[in-house]
Amino acid sequence: MASTSSSPTGGTREPIDAVRVIANRSSGKQGYAIAAEAAARGAEVVLVSTVELPPPAGVEVVAVETAEQVHAAVSAHSAADVVVMAAAVADFRPKQSAPGKLKKQDGPPEIVLEPTPDILAELGAAKRPGQVLVGFAAETEDLVANAASKLATKRLDLIVANDVSAPGVGFGHDTNAVVLLRPAGEPVTVALRDKRAIAAAVLDVVVEIRSAPGGPDN
Ligand code: C5P
Repeated sequence: MASTSSSPTGGTREPIDAVRVIANRSSGKQGYAIAAEAAARGAEVVLVSTVELPPPAGVEVVAVETAEQVHAAVSAHSAADVVVMAAAVADFRPKQSAPGKLKKQDGPPEIVLEPTPDILAELGAAKRPGQVLVGFAAETEDLVANAASKLATKRLDLIVANDVSAPGVGFGHDTNAVVLLRPAGEPVTVALRDKRAIAAAVLDVVVEIRSAPGGPDN
């Protein structure tokens, strides 16, 4: 798999003040497994990460925290042959964050949220010929329908859907179970297994897309 690959992973942390953040339950383990598997297959991998797991062998790690930092790091590597966006990017962030620590005595703060940029949708809108874009859809209901809609709106080549309410699946676990969806063809179910094996299943499909006659866009 001779290619360059950008792989954002982990949950973003959006500051409320100097010490408090809005975060989510993503552990980053699936993204690390994908980066490790891609590097083991010979890809040059940049892992944009919000978590501090041991870096996989041969992978360049770019440490980030907020959606805006993920955005900047991904934009800097937007020419990658393959982008696997496993990051749980906050959909909303505080419009303003206090430079110091908000005082408890001042009572509950009113936190006004604003949307973050949809990084993957932006990549999809600007996709260059031959580039493969892979997204994730963490859902708790209507897994396939929700994932299919994200696949289409974000102009992705593949979406990895997981039902994060199922036992052993998704955030924090060492295992995952996913459904792989492409713009054409039937969804492929990958039953519960460790995240490295899920990574291998995802990258097998990426290889298939890249080797399709006429390239990924056919
Ligand atoms: O949040 P959503 O379910 O739309 O996420 C689907 C995909 O879009 C994921 O791959 C996620 O990393 C990506 N995403 C993004 N920027 C956002 C929100 C989600 O790139 N602001």
